[in-house]
Amino acid sequence: MDDYCDDIILTGDRPTGPLHLGHYAGSLANRVALQGRCRRQFILLADLQALTDNAGDPGRVARNVLEVALDYLAIGLDPARSPFVLQSGVPALAELTVHYLNLVTVARLERNPTVKAEIQQRGFARDIPAGFLCYPVSQAADITAFKATLVPVGDDQLPMIEQTNEIAARINRLGGREILPEAKALLSTTPRLPGIDGKAKASKSLGNAISLSASADEVTRAVQMMFTDPAHLRVSDPGQTVGNVVFAYLAAFDPDRAGVAALGEHYRRGGLGDSVVKKRLNEVLQALLGPIRERRERYARDPAQVMRFVDAGTAAAREIAARTLDDVRGVFGLRPAATIAGRSAERLSLPVEAG
Ligand code: ATP
Ligand code: MG
Repeated sequence: MDDYCDDIILTGDRPTGPLHLGHYAGSLANRVALQGRCRRQFILLADLQALTDNAGDPGRVARNVLEVALDYLAIGLDPARSPFVLQSGVPALAELTVHYLNLVTVARLERNPTVKAEIQQRGFARDIPAGFLCYPVSQAADITAFKATLVPVGDDQLPMIEQTNEIAARINRLGGREILPEAKALLSTTPRLPGIDGKAKASKSLGNAISLSASADEVTRAVQMMFTDPAHLRVSDPGQTVGNVVFAYLAAFDPDRAGVAALGEHYRRGGLGDSVVKKRLNEVLQALLGPIRERRERYARDPAQVMRFVDAGTAAAREIAARTLDDVRGVFGLRPAATIAGRSAERLSLPVEAG
Protein backbone atom coordinates (compact mmCIF):
# COMPACT_ATOMS: atom_id res chain seq x y z
CA MET A 1 0.00 0.00 0.00
CA ASP A 2 1.38 3.44 -0.91
CA ASP A 3 1.94 5.98 1.80
CA TYR A 4 -0.73 8.26 0.46
CA CYS A 5 -3.41 7.53 -2.06
CA ASP A 6 -5.46 10.01 -4.00
CA ASP A 7 -8.55 7.85 -3.75
CA ILE A 8 -11.98 8.60 -2.43
CA ILE A 9 -13.09 5.60 -0.40
CA LEU A 10 -16.62 4.45 0.24
CA THR A 11 -17.49 1.32 2.15
CA GLY A 12 -20.18 0.34 4.51
CA ASP A 13 -22.14 -2.29 6.31
CA ARG A 14 -25.73 -3.33 6.66
CA PRO A 15 -26.94 -2.65 10.20
CA THR A 16 -28.41 -6.13 10.54
CA GLY A 17 -26.37 -7.11 13.59
CA PRO A 18 -23.14 -6.32 15.38
CA LEU A 19 -20.02 -6.42 13.23
CA HIS A 20 -17.87 -9.51 13.42
CA LEU A 21 -14.41 -10.82 12.69
CA GLY A 22 -15.32 -11.40 9.02
CA HIS A 23 -15.94 -7.68 8.62
CA TYR A 24 -12.76 -6.90 10.45
CA ALA A 25 -10.60 -9.16 8.29
CA GLY A 26 -12.35 -8.37 5.01
CA SER A 27 -12.80 -4.64 5.24
CA LEU A 28 -12.63 -2.87 8.62
CA ALA A 29 -8.89 -3.32 9.19
CA ASN A 30 -8.21 -1.81 5.77
CA ARG A 31 -10.46 1.14 6.55
CA VAL A 32 -8.52 1.87 9.73
CA ALA A 33 -5.22 1.50 7.88
CA LEU A 34 -6.34 3.90 5.14
CA GLN A 35 -7.88 6.45 7.46
CA GLY A 36 -6.24 9.84 6.97
CA ARG A 37 -4.02 8.46 4.21
CA CYS A 38 -6.45 8.98 1.35
CA ARG A 39 -8.27 11.95 -0.12
CA ARG A 40 -11.47 11.10 1.72
CA GLN A 41 -13.14 8.10 3.31
CA PHE A 42 -16.87 7.69 3.89
CA ILE A 43 -18.42 4.85 5.90
CA LEU A 44 -22.01 4.06 5.06
CA LEU A 45 -24.51 2.54 7.47
CA ALA A 46 -26.69 0.97 4.79
CA ASP A 47 -30.01 0.89 6.64
CA LEU A 48 -32.18 1.11 3.51
CA GLN A 49 -30.31 -1.81 2.02
CA ALA A 50 -30.72 -3.76 5.26
CA LEU A 51 -34.49 -3.25 5.00
CA THR A 52 -34.56 -5.00 1.61
CA ASP A 53 -34.53 -8.34 3.44
CA ASN A 54 -35.65 -7.18 6.90
CA ALA A 55 -38.83 -5.24 6.14
CA GLY A 56 -40.71 -7.67 8.38
CA ASP A 57 -38.49 -6.71 11.31
CA PRO A 58 -37.55 -3.06 10.84
CA GLY A 59 -36.71 -2.74 14.55
CA ARG A 60 -33.71 -4.96 13.97
CA VAL A 61 -32.26 -2.47 11.50
CA ALA A 62 -33.10 0.59 13.60
CA ARG A 63 -31.47 -0.94 16.70
CA ASN A 64 -28.33 -1.97 14.92
CA VAL A 65 -27.47 1.47 13.57
CA LEU A 66 -26.13 2.41 17.00
CA GLU A 67 -24.47 -0.99 17.45
CA VAL A 68 -22.59 -0.74 14.16
CA ALA A 69 -21.57 2.88 14.83
CA LEU A 70 -20.22 1.70 18.21
CA ASP A 71 -18.27 -1.04 16.45
CA TYR A 72 -16.74 1.57 14.14
CA LEU A 73 -15.60 3.71 17.04
CA ALA A 74 -14.38 0.65 18.94
CA ILE A 75 -12.04 -0.46 16.13
CA GLY A 76 -10.62 3.05 15.80
CA LEU A 77 -12.56 4.67 12.99
CA ASP A 78 -12.59 8.39 13.70
CA PRO A 79 -15.74 10.17 12.49
CA ALA A 80 -13.75 13.36 11.87
CA ARG A 81 -11.56 11.59 9.33
CA SER A 82 -13.95 8.86 8.18
CA PRO A 83 -17.46 10.32 8.41
CA PHE A 84 -20.22 7.84 9.31
CA VAL A 85 -23.15 8.29 6.93
CA LEU A 86 -26.67 6.97 7.47
CA GLN A 87 -28.00 5.89 4.09
CA SER A 88 -31.63 6.78 4.81
CA GLY A 89 -30.53 10.31 5.74
CA VAL A 90 -29.26 11.00 2.23
CA PRO A 91 -32.32 11.09 -0.06
CA ALA A 92 -30.14 11.68 -3.15
CA LEU A 93 -29.01 8.04 -2.82
CA ALA A 94 -32.58 6.83 -3.33
CA GLU A 95 -33.09 9.18 -6.25
CA LEU A 96 -29.85 8.06 -7.91
CA THR A 97 -31.07 4.47 -7.51
CA VAL A 98 -34.26 5.31 -9.38
CA HIS A 99 -32.28 6.77 -12.29
CA TYR A 100 -29.90 3.83 -12.42
CA LEU A 101 -32.74 1.30 -12.42
CA ASN A 102 -33.45 2.43 -15.98
CA LEU A 103 -30.00 1.27 -17.04
CA VAL A 104 -30.15 -2.28 -15.66
CA THR A 105 -32.12 -5.27 -16.88
CA VAL A 106 -33.88 -7.76 -14.63
CA ALA A 107 -31.85 -10.54 -16.29
CA ARG A 108 -28.63 -8.77 -15.31
CA LEU A 109 -29.83 -8.45 -11.72
CA GLU A 110 -30.74 -12.13 -11.62
CA ARG A 111 -27.27 -13.10 -12.82
CA ASN A 112 -25.47 -11.50 -9.84
CA PRO A 113 -23.89 -14.55 -8.13
CA THR A 114 -23.86 -13.03 -4.62
CA VAL A 115 -27.52 -12.05 -4.81
CA LYS A 116 -28.37 -15.48 -6.24
CA ALA A 117 -26.69 -17.22 -3.29
CA GLU A 118 -28.34 -14.88 -0.78
CA ILE A 119 -31.79 -15.49 -2.31
CA GLN A 120 -31.26 -19.21 -1.78
CA GLN A 121 -29.95 -18.75 1.76
CA ARG A 122 -32.94 -16.64 2.70
CA GLY A 123 -35.37 -19.09 1.11
CA PHE A 124 -37.05 -16.39 -0.96
CA ALA A 125 -37.81 -18.85 -3.80
CA ARG A 126 -40.35 -16.99 -5.96
CA ASP A 127 -41.09 -14.32 -3.38
CA ILE A 128 -38.00 -12.19 -3.82
CA PRO A 129 -38.61 -8.64 -2.60
CA ALA A 130 -38.00 -6.36 -5.61
CA GLY A 131 -35.84 -4.13 -3.43
CA PHE A 132 -33.62 -7.08 -2.56
CA LEU A 133 -33.06 -8.05 -6.19
CA CYS A 134 -32.22 -4.41 -6.93
CA TYR A 135 -29.92 -3.74 -3.97
CA PRO A 136 -26.79 -3.87 -6.13
CA VAL A 137 -28.23 -0.84 -7.95
CA SER A 138 -28.62 1.02 -4.67
CA GLN A 139 -25.03 0.07 -3.90
CA ALA A 140 -24.02 1.59 -7.24
CA ALA A 141 -25.80 4.75 -6.11
CA ASP A 142 -23.88 4.73 -2.81
CA ILE A 143 -20.49 4.28 -4.45
CA THR A 144 -21.00 6.75 -7.28
CA ALA A 145 -22.68 9.42 -5.11
CA PHE A 146 -19.31 10.01 -3.46
CA LYS A 147 -17.44 9.49 -6.76
CA ALA A 148 -15.55 6.78 -4.89
CA THR A 149 -12.60 5.15 -6.63
CA LEU A 150 -11.67 2.59 -3.97
CA VAL A 151 -13.97 0.25 -2.08
CA PRO A 152 -12.44 -1.96 0.66
CA VAL A 153 -14.68 -5.04 0.72
CA GLY A 154 -14.89 -8.79 1.08
CA ASP A 155 -14.94 -10.84 -2.11
CA ASP A 156 -18.72 -11.29 -2.01
CA GLN A 157 -18.90 -7.65 -3.09
CA LEU A 158 -16.93 -8.00 -6.34
CA PRO A 159 -20.07 -8.53 -8.47
CA MET A 160 -21.55 -5.33 -6.98
CA ILE A 161 -18.54 -3.29 -7.98
CA GLU A 162 -18.63 -4.78 -11.46
CA GLN A 163 -22.29 -3.78 -11.75
CA THR A 164 -21.52 -0.30 -10.39
CA ASN A 165 -18.90 0.21 -13.07
CA GLU A 166 -21.30 -0.92 -15.79
CA ILE A 167 -23.82 1.67 -14.61
CA ALA A 168 -21.17 4.38 -14.35
CA ALA A 169 -19.99 3.60 -17.89
CA ARG A 170 -23.57 3.92 -19.17
CA ILE A 171 -23.97 7.28 -17.45
CA ASN A 172 -20.66 8.50 -18.88
CA ARG A 173 -21.64 7.37 -22.38
CA LEU A 174 -25.01 9.07 -22.11
CA GLY A 175 -23.42 12.24 -20.78
CA GLY A 176 -20.62 12.20 -23.35
CA ARG A 177 -17.93 12.75 -20.68
CA GLU A 178 -16.58 11.17 -17.50
CA ILE A 179 -19.15 12.04 -14.87
CA LEU A 180 -18.61 9.03 -12.62
CA PRO A 181 -15.16 7.51 -12.06
CA GLU A 182 -14.40 3.82 -12.15
CA ALA A 183 -14.41 2.16 -8.72
CA LYS A 184 -11.88 -0.50 -7.75
CA ALA A 185 -12.34 -3.10 -5.04
CA LEU A 186 -9.67 -3.28 -2.38
CA LEU A 187 -9.54 -6.87 -1.15
CA SER A 188 -7.69 -7.76 2.03
CA THR A 189 -5.46 -10.76 2.53
CA THR A 190 -8.57 -12.47 3.97
CA PRO A 191 -11.23 -11.69 1.38
CA ARG A 192 -13.63 -14.24 2.87
CA LEU A 193 -13.40 -15.42 6.48
CA PRO A 194 -15.27 -18.72 6.99
CA GLY A 195 -17.96 -19.17 9.62
CA ILE A 196 -17.08 -20.99 12.86
CA ASP A 197 -19.30 -23.82 11.56
CA GLY A 198 -17.07 -24.33 8.50
CA LYS A 199 -19.49 -22.57 6.09
CA ALA A 200 -17.72 -20.53 3.44
CA LYS A 201 -18.59 -17.13 4.93
CA ALA A 202 -18.98 -15.82 8.44
CA SER A 203 -22.13 -13.72 8.24
CA LYS A 204 -24.49 -11.84 10.50
CA SER A 205 -27.49 -13.43 8.83
CA LEU A 206 -26.12 -16.98 9.22
CA GLY A 207 -25.29 -16.46 12.91
CA ASN A 208 -21.94 -18.22 12.52
CA ALA A 209 -19.61 -15.35 13.31
CA ILE A 210 -17.71 -14.05 16.34
CA SER A 211 -18.85 -10.50 16.91
CA LEU A 212 -16.34 -7.79 17.77
CA SER A 213 -18.32 -7.12 20.93
CA ALA A 214 -18.39 -10.76 22.09
CA SER A 215 -17.43 -11.29 25.75
CA ALA A 216 -14.21 -13.10 26.59
CA ASP A 217 -16.25 -16.21 27.48
CA GLU A 218 -18.22 -16.10 24.24
CA VAL A 219 -14.98 -15.95 22.28
CA THR A 220 -13.58 -18.94 24.16
CA ARG A 221 -16.78 -20.94 23.60
CA ALA A 222 -16.84 -20.06 19.88
CA VAL A 223 -13.23 -21.19 19.47
CA GLN A 224 -14.00 -24.45 21.27
CA MET A 225 -16.93 -25.09 18.89
CA MET A 226 -14.92 -24.32 15.75
CA PHE A 227 -14.97 -26.75 12.89
CA THR A 228 -11.55 -28.36 12.37
CA ASP A 229 -10.66 -31.51 10.43
CA PRO A 230 -13.33 -34.17 11.12
CA ALA A 231 -10.85 -36.92 10.14
CA HIS A 232 -8.33 -35.77 12.74
CA LEU A 233 -9.54 -38.12 15.46
CA ARG A 234 -6.43 -38.91 17.48
CA VAL A 235 -3.66 -36.44 18.33
CA SER A 236 -1.20 -38.67 16.46
CA ASP A 237 -3.25 -38.52 13.21
CA PRO A 238 -2.05 -36.20 10.46
CA GLY A 239 -4.54 -33.32 10.10
CA GLN A 240 -5.72 -31.04 7.31
CA THR A 241 -5.15 -27.32 7.70
CA VAL A 242 -7.00 -26.43 4.49
CA GLY A 243 -10.72 -26.12 5.19
CA ASN A 244 -9.89 -26.08 8.90
CA VAL A 245 -11.51 -23.02 10.44
CA VAL A 246 -9.03 -22.70 13.32
CA PHE A 247 -6.15 -22.46 10.86
CA ALA A 248 -8.09 -20.03 8.66
CA TYR A 249 -8.53 -17.75 11.69
CA LEU A 250 -4.90 -18.12 12.74
CA ALA A 251 -3.85 -17.16 9.19
CA ALA A 252 -6.11 -14.11 9.40
CA PHE A 253 -5.33 -12.86 12.90
CA ASP A 254 -2.14 -14.29 14.40
CA PRO A 255 0.66 -11.74 14.03
CA ASP A 256 3.27 -14.49 14.62
CA ARG A 257 3.47 -15.76 11.03
CA ALA A 258 6.39 -18.12 11.68
CA GLY A 259 4.56 -19.60 14.67
CA VAL A 260 1.46 -20.29 12.56
CA ALA A 261 3.57 -21.91 9.83
CA ALA A 262 5.23 -24.18 12.43
CA LEU A 263 1.88 -25.12 14.01
CA GLY A 264 0.45 -25.92 10.57
CA GLU A 265 3.40 -28.08 9.66
CA HIS A 266 3.19 -30.00 12.95
CA TYR A 267 -0.60 -30.47 12.57
CA ARG A 268 -0.24 -31.86 9.04
CA ARG A 269 2.51 -34.22 10.18
CA GLY A 270 0.45 -35.50 13.12
CA GLY A 271 1.05 -35.29 16.85
CA LEU A 272 -0.67 -31.97 17.45
CA GLY A 273 -4.10 -31.91 19.07
CA ASP A 274 -6.91 -29.48 18.19
CA SER A 275 -6.89 -28.22 21.76
CA VAL A 276 -3.35 -26.81 21.43
CA VAL A 277 -4.18 -24.95 18.23
CA LYS A 278 -7.45 -23.69 19.69
CA LYS A 279 -5.66 -22.46 22.79
CA ARG A 280 -3.32 -20.40 20.62
CA LEU A 281 -6.24 -19.00 18.60
CA ASN A 282 -8.09 -18.10 21.77
CA GLU A 283 -5.07 -16.10 23.01
CA VAL A 284 -4.78 -14.31 19.68
CA LEU A 285 -8.46 -13.38 19.54
CA GLN A 286 -8.60 -12.27 23.18
CA ALA A 287 -5.61 -9.98 22.55
CA LEU A 288 -7.29 -8.51 19.46
CA LEU A 289 -10.79 -8.14 20.87
CA GLY A 290 -10.02 -7.08 24.46
CA PRO A 291 -9.08 -3.45 23.66
CA ILE A 292 -11.90 -3.21 21.07
CA ARG A 293 -14.42 -4.33 23.70
CA GLU A 294 -13.09 -1.81 26.22
CA ARG A 295 -13.30 1.12 23.80
CA ARG A 296 -16.79 0.02 22.80
CA GLU A 297 -17.95 0.00 26.41
CA ARG A 298 -16.61 3.54 26.87
CA TYR A 299 -18.48 4.91 23.83
CA ALA A 300 -21.62 2.96 24.74
CA ARG A 301 -22.01 5.10 27.86
CA ASP A 302 -23.03 8.05 25.67
CA PRO A 303 -25.21 6.80 22.81
CA ALA A 304 -26.49 10.32 22.06
CA GLN A 305 -22.94 11.42 21.30
CA VAL A 306 -22.48 8.44 18.96
CA MET A 307 -25.65 9.39 17.08
CA ARG A 308 -24.41 12.99 16.84
CA PHE A 309 -21.36 11.66 15.00
CA VAL A 310 -23.68 9.81 12.61
CA ASP A 311 -25.84 12.91 12.08
CA ALA A 312 -22.82 15.11 11.34
CA GLY A 313 -21.39 12.66 8.79
CA THR A 314 -24.80 12.28 7.20
CA ALA A 315 -25.24 16.05 6.84
CA ALA A 316 -21.85 16.37 5.11
CA ALA A 317 -22.71 13.47 2.79
CA ARG A 318 -26.03 15.03 1.80
CA GLU A 319 -24.25 17.95 0.12
CA ILE A 320 -21.82 15.74 -1.79
CA ALA A 321 -24.49 13.29 -2.96
CA ALA A 322 -26.79 16.15 -4.04
CA ARG A 323 -24.06 17.44 -6.37
CA THR A 324 -23.64 14.02 -8.00
CA LEU A 325 -27.38 13.69 -8.30
CA ASP A 326 -27.52 16.95 -10.24
CA ASP A 327 -24.84 15.64 -12.62
CA VAL A 328 -26.90 12.50 -13.20
CA ARG A 329 -30.16 14.44 -13.53
CA GLY A 330 -28.43 16.49 -16.22
CA VAL A 331 -27.64 13.33 -18.17
CA PHE A 332 -31.36 12.54 -18.22
CA GLY A 333 -32.27 16.09 -19.26
CA LEU A 334 -33.60 17.01 -15.82
CA ARG A 335 -32.82 20.34 -14.20
CA PRO A 336 -30.83 20.49 -10.94
CA ALA A 337 -33.05 19.63 -7.99
CA ALA A 338 -32.31 22.93 -6.22
CA THR A 339 -33.50 24.97 -9.23
CA ILE A 340 -36.88 23.30 -9.18
CA ALA A 341 -37.17 23.51 -5.41
CA GLY A 342 -36.24 27.22 -5.64
CA ARG A 343 -38.90 27.91 -8.26
CA SER A 344 -41.63 26.08 -6.43
CA ALA A 345 -40.85 28.23 -3.42
CA GLU A 346 -41.73 31.32 -5.48
CA ARG A 347 -45.18 32.50 -4.68
CA LEU A 348 -47.91 31.17 -6.86
CA SER A 349 -51.12 33.10 -7.10
CA LEU A 350 -53.51 30.22 -6.93
CA PRO A 351 -57.21 30.99 -7.02
CA VAL A 352 -58.59 31.06 -3.50
CA GLU A 353 -61.10 28.32 -2.96
CA ALA A 354 -64.55 29.58 -2.15
CA GLY A 355 -65.33 28.59 1.42
P1 ATP B 1 -25.61 -9.85 6.15
O1 ATP B 1 -25.58 -11.32 6.42
O2 ATP B 1 -26.69 -9.09 6.83
O3 ATP B 1 -25.49 -9.53 4.68
P2 ATP B 1 -22.79 -9.63 6.40
O4 ATP B 1 -22.18 -10.34 7.55
O5 ATP B 1 -22.71 -10.23 5.03
O6 ATP B 1 -24.28 -9.31 6.82
P3 ATP B 1 -22.43 -6.99 5.32
O7 ATP B 1 -22.89 -5.81 6.09
O8 ATP B 1 -23.28 -7.48 4.19
O9 ATP B 1 -22.19 -8.19 6.36
O10 ATP B 1 -20.95 -6.76 4.77
C1 ATP B 1 -20.17 -5.64 5.10
C2 ATP B 1 -18.77 -5.77 4.55
O11 ATP B 1 -18.05 -6.82 5.22
C3 ATP B 1 -18.69 -6.13 3.05
O12 ATP B 1 -17.59 -5.48 2.49
C4 ATP B 1 -18.46 -7.62 3.07
O13 ATP B 1 -17.79 -8.06 1.91
C5 ATP B 1 -17.56 -7.76 4.29
N1 ATP B 1 -17.70 -9.10 4.88
C6 ATP B 1 -18.81 -9.61 5.46
N2 ATP B 1 -18.59 -10.86 5.86
C7 ATP B 1 -17.31 -11.16 5.51
C8 ATP B 1 -16.48 -12.32 5.67
N3 ATP B 1 -16.94 -13.42 6.25
N4 ATP B 1 -15.20 -12.27 5.22
C9 ATP B 1 -14.71 -11.15 4.63
N5 ATP B 1 -15.44 -10.02 4.46
C10 ATP B 1 -16.72 -10.03 4.89
MG1 MG C 1 -23.84 -9.25 3.36
